[in-house]
Amino acid sequence: MEDVQREAMEYDVVIVGAGPAGIAAAIRLKQLSPDVSVCLLEKGSEVGAHILSGAVVDPIALNELIPDWQEKGAPLNMPVTDDRFYVLGPNGALRLPNMLMPPFMSNHGNYAVSLGNICRWLATQAEALGVEIYPGFACSEVLYREDGSVKGVVAGVMGIARDGTRKPDYQPGMELLGKYVFIAEGVRGSLAKQIIARFDLAEGCEPQKFGIGMKELWEVLPENYRKGQVTHTLGWPLGIKTGGGSFMYHLEDNLVSVGFVVHLNYANPYLDPYREFQRFKHHSLIEPVLRGGRRVAYGARAITEGGFQSVPKLFFPGGVLIGCSAGFVNVPRIKGSQNAMKTGMLAAEAAFEALQAGRAGDELSSYEDAYRKSWVFADLKRVRNVKPMWSKLGLIGGLALGGLDMWLNHLFGFGFGTWKHGKPDYAALKPASESKPIDYPKPDGVLSFDRLTNLAFSGTNHEEDEPQHLKLKNPDIPVAVNLPMWAEPAQRYCPAGVYEIIEEATGPRFQINHQNCVHCKTCDIKDPSQNIVWTVPQGGEGPNYPNL
Ligand SMILES: Cc1cc2nc3c(=O)[nH]c(=O)nc-3n(C[C@H](O)[C@H](O)[C@H](O)COP(=O)(O)OP(=O)(O)OC[C@H]3O[C@@H](n4cnc5c(N)ncnc54)[C@H](O)[C@@H]3O)c2cc1C
Ligand code: SF4
Repeated sequence: MEDVQREAMEYDVVIVGAGPAGIAAAIRLKQLSPDVSVCLLEKGSEVGAHILSGAVVDPIALNELIPDWQEKGAPLNMPVTDDRFYVLGPNGALRLPNMLMPPFMSNHGNYAVSLGNICRWLATQAEALGVEIYPGFACSEVLYREDGSVKGVVAGVMGIARDGTRKPDYQPGMELLGKYVFIAEGVRGSLAKQIIARFDLAEGCEPQKFGIGMKELWEVLPENYRKGQVTHTLGWPLGIKTGGGSFMYHLEDNLVSVGFVVHLNYANPYLDPYREFQRFKHHSLIEPVLRGGRRVAYGARAITEGGFQSVPKLFFPGGVLIGCSAGFVNVPRIKGSQNAMKTGMLAAEAAFEALQAGRAGDELSSYEDAYRKSWVFADLKRVRNVKPMWSKLGLIGGLALGGLDMWLNHLFGFGFGTWKHGKPDYAALKPASESKPIDYPKPDGVLSFDRLTNLAFSGTNHEEDEPQHLKLKNPDIPVAVNLPMWAEPAQRYCPAGVYEIIEEATGPRFQINHQNCVHCKTCDIKDPSQNIVWTVPQGGEGPNYPNL
């Protein structure tokens, strides 16, 4: 392809990703000075289209950012009224008394919400302050200055055919240049991954850990609706060795958010997170709530789980990592949105100070200092051992020791040291020859659904004739290595049916149905050969989540 000529636009701060982290950063910058120019880029067709969360939100960061959010009409309308925690067995459920948990695990004072709708609302606040928001702009490339610092991104490349030629609607995209660039792509960001590697930001940290979260939104019968009730479960159907659990949140208007998270350090390559979720809904605790209702939306997204030990260096020449691009989820609380917002705000304050001093393109180390002094750091530190204890000791040992460790941290400020995560998730799979295939029940089409039926409720769309955004470093590996060694687990871990092994007369063939991709990033994380690289398709594609 011939040389590409692109227009460039310059800003004080360019932000990649309009999730809670990116929008909070943009708002804080404009609050500090209306004269700071801020550009916010989002690959979804609109702000919120790619946001998938539980969500029970702790408003601590929102209270700091927009103290009068209630008067301004923020969509946090359902305070948590009833907070339940169960361990499930195949035939029943054991409710754990709330008093077993340290007080910070309580959900009272939190709100059961759609995080997508909160982002939509936050975007209106940002726009009112003068932030330029560009939805449908996928950032595909990082741009560097001659001194090696990050100077911006390329966004908005459109209209390239599968064979690399230009279609009639071709657009070369724009160069968005910033004195500072904030990477707010959320979990496993595609540009974040490059920047972390290039500047060695994860050196000395534990590997980042992840889960795959799948969620359905249900409209339930009025008699099954329990306004403000939130339920979390552990155990069945995952058993005691595989980490994960569920959430069920009663939102407004008879809507119930039901979701399931499987930790991606699972070992059995035959495990199918999507089908675990489907069979979970048939449990006697869950089925009565959903029975007679209808599923109105479906989606999936990975979640960062490494926490305290896995947070990389947060700044690099020319920019910062904020929110889940760095990974600030508090795993036992399943909460990351408040930490995403707060880190965005801290980075904004650091950038503002630098801009005031006439600086540009250098290191915002004061952001990392501020993080270390913030409540985000304290929030992650006190729960740091829960995930590694669970991984190493299984459900029962992990729950008991992890609970004790949280209590010790809460009461005395110390616990059982800092446990390591060990290996990355992709290295956890056992060979298929040492693993047992799992016999999943067929979906009944009423409470449980096959992947493609559910996918239709995600609004996902990609053009057929465009370059493959799921890139294989080596196209032979799926059939030559992954299939014999791990029974090609991509067929099962992808929650959208993107990867298939097709048996043909000439032998097995690996097929990628890229149109189905919901941008959850699980393949990039879990492929045992680390052969799949997730890159952005053209902007506006992917899921169109209404209110997940
Ligand atoms: C199943 C599940 C349940 C959860 N439950 C809760 C909960 O109950 N409470 C809670 O507080 N937290 C919860 N979380 C975690 C919470 O959702 C995240 O911590 C939070 O969304 C992180 O915010 P973020 O802004 O860093 O990233 P995100 O919310 O992921 O937003 C990133 C945005 O950047 C965009 N983007 C990414 N790459 C590019 C690119 N290259 N170009 C342009 N745009 C890009 C994405 O489309 C997206 O809109 C849950 C997460 C999951 C997956
Ligand atoms: S292809 Fe990868 S990113 Fe897309 S839905 Fe499947 S696992 Fe998720």
